[in-house]
Amino acid sequence: MNFAPTPEQAQLRHAAREFMRRECPPEVIHRALAEGRHSAALWRRMAELGWLGVAIDERYGGSGGDIVDMAILIEELAPGDPAIGPFFNTVCFGGKSIGYFGSEAQKEFFLSRITRGECVFALSITEPGGGTDVLGAMQTRAERDGEGWVLNGAKMFTSAAQRADYLLVVARTERRVAKPAQGITLFIVPRTAPGVTIRKIDTIVPIEDTNAVFYDNVRLGPDAVLGEEGRGFYQLLATLNNERILGGAAALGCGAAAYEAALAYSRQRTAFGKIIGALQAIQHYLADMATELDAARLLVHRAAWLQSEGQECGAEATMAKMYAADVAVRACDRAIQIHGGMGLTNECEVARYWRLARLWQIGPITNEQCRNIIAQLRCELPRSY
Ligand SMILES: Cc1cc2nc3c(=O)[nH]c(=O)nc-3n(C[C@H](O)[C@H](O)[C@H](O)COP(=O)(O)OP(=O)(O)OC[C@H]3O[C@@H](n4cnc5c(N)ncnc54)[C@H](O)[C@@H]3O)c2cc1C
Repeated sequence: MNFAPTPEQAQLRHAAREFMRRECPPEVIHRALAEGRHSAALWRRMAELGWLGVAIDERYGGSGGDIVDMAILIEELAPGDPAIGPFFNTVCFGGKSIGYFGSEAQKEFFLSRITRGECVFALSITEPGGGTDVLGAMQTRAERDGEGWVLNGAKMFTSAAQRADYLLVVARTERRVAKPAQGITLFIVPRTAPGVTIRKIDTIVPIEDTNAVFYDNVRLGPDAVLGEEGRGFYQLLATLNNERILGGAAALGCGAAAYEAALAYSRQRTAFGKIIGALQAIQHYLADMATELDAARLLVHRAAWLQSEGQECGAEATMAKMYAADVAVRACDRAIQIHGGMGLTNECEVARYWRLARLWQIGPITNEQCRNIIAQLRCELPRSY
């Protein structure tokens, strides 16, 4: 058994860490937050470094890496949200889905543009009626219109939609189906298509933006379909492991950043004539954070490795996302405590990390639903939902 990263993986982590330190300091992040837009310069730089094509086939200009590389990258980049931009949606989801299910023409068009930093994706899956019971809640429909389609419906929490070039929309295309998972189709919708209206939702999560998106009689050509008509939900299922592993990696990155900030603070803040890092209570907090973050990283990397080897990892990917999100929130909370009052100011980064980490307990799937799935897949108990 070998837990050591390869030299290439170690180099990638080092490069991403240096990039964050030099090119994405807190002032860049706060400027992006105030302006409500990611840094175009950082996005370009990530394209030059080959990171936007990290897991895209070399035929389309990508670097041909795997999900372990993506997990390493996203762990290091995630604390820089919102300045680094919609990496998760575009690279981890849009690029991956097109790589799996796109036609040759779609791959050539979209993947090369994603790699060059010329194409941003947003994901329009969750509906006002609910994200956990996504099939039960789905009202968005696309009806045939000659060769093409007409799309109608509304979606909640479509992140990065304000500046996305394309929205990946999940819609029902058949009403009479034997199972609710049938008759769903994925569509690639240009953000500027007539009939698309985007309304920003105000949240406490410090990301670029999240939105309600309305689709009113949006006319789409036949080439807007991604993959197979009516099989969209099964296609989504095939991307779930990636999404969970990388969600776990993003949460882990926030927790690790909070731990490092708290450790540094504990070495310079003094009380009763010594650094607070010499106080046993503070040491115990830091020891717990370090241990739990290591355990979460092992879960994330195990799941990523299984996925990269083409092995079944539904339970492992779900465990990784659930545990990493819980550990990250706990680590951020402890980091706030270690910072005392400063921990609750906007000057201090740890409160922002907490707000970022908190998202990963809810999206892309809630931790309650993760527990349901783990009970079903790992404990082999009856499906409870
Ligand atoms: C900041 C932000 C960004 C987001 N970005 C995107 C995005 O880009 N694209 C997108 O499509 N979605 C996005 N989401 C939506 C996110 O994926 C959903 O919020 C999530 O899936 C939960 O759905 P819901 O909010 O409708 O909660 P609900 O499904 O209504 O759940 C409410 C509560 O009930 C619990 N619950 C429901 N069913 C069960 C069950 N069977 N057993 C136990 N508990 C249960 C849930 O765990 C939760 O605690 C984002 C959300 C946020 C907050």
